[in-house]
Parts: sequence; structure tokens; C-alpha cells
Amino acid sequence: MSLDGTYDPGNIFARILRGEMPSVRVFEDDHVLAFMDVFPQARGHTLVIPKHSTARNFLEETPENIGPLMEGVQRVAKAVRAALNPDGIVITQFNGSPAGQTVYHLHVHIIPRWEGVALGRHGEGMADVEELKGLAAQISAKIA
Ligand code: AMP
Repeated sequence: MSLDGTYDPGNIFARILRGEMPSVRVFEDDHVLAFMDVFPQARGHTLVIPKHSTARNFLEETPENIGPLMEGVQRVAKAVRAALNPDGIVITQFNGSPAGQTVYHLHVHIIPRWEGVALGRHGEGMADVEELKGLAAQISAKIA
């Protein structure tokens, strides 16, 4: 899909938001939901999505939603740091298929990085759900 298109309410993240699909949740407030990426590129790879949105990508989001979304991203990223002590953190977001986007509900990736540990491939290799639950609990406990 390109940058143009129509929001599909059946997309996987919309279904997670509605509780129709399972997710390993980390944090939630009135504006955002954070949950573990099931095909993580690194240990602790977390996604943050706006809850009240039909934006497929960053360009489509309302200015009113951007602030709370990015506040949520910062809050979760700080918790990831406090919980997992990475050497660095990638915060990234893809718009359109040529940019690497595969799910068309706006989302932001928080990917911890450690010196000497290569980044996993995007969207490959499903994680062990029990391990994700443990990581989510660690991160959740550090939300300030
Ligand atoms: P993007 O390629 O930026 O659209 O990112 C979509 C991300 O969602 C990828 O990193 C996938 O690993 C992740 N993903 C896909 N399905 C699920 C799911 N059911 N639960 C959690 N993460 C998912």
C-alpha cells in the first residue's frame, strides 16, 4: 500500500484495540496503547499506537492526536530504558509499503539496542509469548 488509501477497521491493531485479538500489553492511558511486538527486532521491542484514530500513517493523524501519542512514546521509551538498560533506543515509524510499513494503523516502534547485538530483521521470527509477558511486566513496572 502506498501513502494513499482508506483506513481498514479490520487491521490487526484495530482488532487488538477492540480486544478481538490478543496482545501483550505494556501500558495504556486515555490516548495510547503500548504492547510488545510479536516479531521483535530486539528484546523489548514495543509498539505504541493511538487508541482513538483512523490514521493509517503519521501524515494522516490529526495534530490533536500527535502530542498525546508522542508523549506516550516518550513515557514508554523511558520505561524501556529503566527496565532493560539498553545502550541505545531506536524510535521509528514507517509510512507506506516502500518505507517498510506492514500494518496500516499508525504506530511507533521503540527498539532497544545493545552494543554488539545486531538488529533482527523487520517483522520476522515470532517471539515466545511467555518471554514477552515477562518483558512487558518489567517495562510496565517502570512506567512513571
Ligand atoms: P510496520 O512494518 O511498521 O507496519 O510494523 C508493524 C509491526 O507490527 C511489525 O514490527 C510486526 O512485527 C508487528 N506486528 C504484526 N502483527 C502483530 C501482532 N499481532 N501483535 C504485535 N505486533 C505485531
